[in-house]
Amino acid sequence: MGHYLSNLRDLEFNLFEVFRVQDYLGTGPFDQIDADVAHDALVEVERLASTTFAGSFVEGDRTPLRLDDGDVTIPEGIKRSLDAFFDGEWHRMNLPPRLGGYGAPPSLRWAASEMLLGANPAVLMYCAGPAFAAILDRLVTEEQHERWVVPMVERRWGGTMVLTEPDAGSDVGAGRAKAVAASDGTWHVTGTKRFITNGDFDWPENILHLVLARPEGAGPDASTASRPNSPAPAGGPGTKGLSLFMVPKFWPSEDGSLGERNGVVVTKLEDKMGLKASSTCELTFGEQVPARGVLVGERHEGIRQMFQVIEDARMMVGTKAIATLSTGYLNALAYAKERVQGPDLTQASDKTAPRVPIMRHPDVRRMLMEQKAYVEGMRALVMYTATVQDRIRLAREGAPQDLPALEKLNDLLLPMVKGYGSEKSYELLAQSLQVLGGSGYCRDYPIEQYIRDAKIDTLYEGTTGIQGMDLFFRKIGKDQGATLALLLGEIMRFAKGDPGDGALAKEREILGSAVRDVQGMLAAMAGFLDRSVYLVGLNTTTFMFSLSELIIGWLLLRQAEVADAVDASGHDKEFYEGKVAAARWFARNVLTLLSARRAVLEQTDLEVMDLADGAF
Ligand SMILES: Cc1cc2nc3c(=O)[nH]c(=O)nc-3n(C[C@H](O)[C@H](O)[C@H](O)COP(=O)(O)OP(=O)(O)OC[C@H]3O[C@@H](n4cnc5c(N)ncnc54)[C@H](O)[C@@H]3O)c2cc1C
Repeated sequence: MGHYLSNLRDLEFNLFEVFRVQDYLGTGPFDQIDADVAHDALVEVERLASTTFAGSFVEGDRTPLRLDDGDVTIPEGIKRSLDAFFDGEWHRMNLPPRLGGYGAPPSLRWAASEMLLGANPAVLMYCAGPAFAAILDRLVTEEQHERWVVPMVERRWGGTMVLTEPDAGSDVGAGRAKAVAASDGTWHVTGTKRFITNGDFDWPENILHLVLARPEGAGPDASTASRPNSPAPAGGPGTKGLSLFMVPKFWPSEDGSLGERNGVVVTKLEDKMGLKASSTCELTFGEQVPARGVLVGERHEGIRQMFQVIEDARMMVGTKAIATLSTGYLNALAYAKERVQGPDLTQASDKTAPRVPIMRHPDVRRMLMEQKAYVEGMRALVMYTATVQDRIRLAREGAPQDLPALEKLNDLLLPMVKGYGSEKSYELLAQSLQVLGGSGYCRDYPIEQYIRDAKIDTLYEGTTGIQGMDLFFRKIGKDQGATLALLLGEIMRFAKGDPGDGALAKEREILGSAVRDVQGMLAAMAGFLDRSVYLVGLNTTTFMFSLSELIIGWLLLRQAEVADAVDASGHDKEFYEGKVAAARWFARNVLTLLSARRAVLEQTDLEVMDLADGAF
């Protein structure tokens, strides 16, 4: 048995039984993929994930990447996994037909991605080129489409997103890399970028770096010009002065052949805690040889353009996080069924009582149920968000849906998919390990690697703190709470929609009071704004966690309602019983705690901010 344990049953339950994607599969933009094709594709992806991808997971962790003369060498097994992905044409699944793709809906894409990311996240990250191409295609000219976008798909180029600099992490707007216009219409990029995923690897023939830099001559950067010994960077201040440039590893000629090596060089390969198979590079631009690039769209559109890549990456990170927790939980579950230790608690004083599998012990069952409820709830959050993205696609093609409202809902959900999904998954992976006792701490089992590989998810693509602030200030504040109010209204209608059969009545009541708690938190935070923005900043992460839990509780109860209505037998019967039990557990054990959180939040004062730094 490989390390990866998938949960296709639950993915398909989300897709086909709860969100009913079959109602629009095979229509409009998704006309090439009907429900049968979607199912067959998922079965194939599950096979690819469990065999080839999972097969290079440990090798990728234990075989260090090498940096020689600016070239990064990755393990052979990782290359074989990349061959299998691209030779199977899986990179085309969700690309639009214009790019030679099959136009699969986002829900199918993210369901498939969950399995591939759970089996070997570094491999799927190396496959990012075609996904970046689809985004880039919306931003470039027709001529650029042929020269830059098409080869990313057809010739399987690698792709990177290049924002971070030594002094510009969360504060992307502090970036100092600059770009100077050359006489041939290209731009010469200079500067140092840090922590760049896929910065170099020896599988694709070329890599296209999407780089944020300041075009020369747009005025001094007001935010940093006043710092002592700090030369003002080129470009306008903050993120607004940034432009997006395509900077290839090898410069492609007009006939498509690859020319000289461009002046972008790997100057350091990071030695990381986990996700070791993934190449994380410091890139230096234009130090000895010019790093030629092409401007995407207009100057100073860079951050808006890059955000399209970032949003995709945030969805990927949230999916990766819960994918890892899912296989962590299923590994823990398998172990708990096999490992025999101690008597049943009811026979604890009987020295001759038979020893039982640890799954029979209440404390182990507590840990397993906690993992099950959270992972299935967070998967529901990912799949719900993915189906909102499906509806956005349908609306763009003329379906009678409110496109702006759907886009705002997607924007609202993304920080929770990424921020909450990554934090909670990392926390609960420790519990997956705990179920295995000392064995879990050893490399004979995959969970210690899961933990190391998953920690990054709370950090890149905007840390958890940044996600919390994004949720409150941008996604709720700038929208005057309108999108959130609609969502809370929908949750409240579900809470009050008890059909009167008694099933889940108590849980609906708990859900209703959790809605009121979240509304109370929001009101308190709005009030804090009048007193001190610090009071808000002390609570943005807490609020994000609380809202995420409310939505997850709602989605689990929706699942329970569906499961409750099915008259199943055998293994399916147990599956549906498990759905109802997880929803009930979550409502009773998690949603009930929101009232305590609300009380704590409402009493926030400025003591933590007023305390002298030396008192910490
Ligand atoms: C393995 C790996 C891969 C990566 N891949 C890429 C990539 O492909 N492309 C790319 O551009 N970058 C990449 N990054 C960079 C990553 O996105 C940054 O590390 C991340 O954005 C955080 O920046 P930082 O590390 O400088 O931390 P900092 O910004 O210094 O943050 C440190 C701490 O301070 C907090 N903090 C910072 N500012 C604020 C604030 N205003 N309010 C409240 N809290 C704040 C943060 O939440 C965090 O807890 C990668 C990083 C790693 C480790």
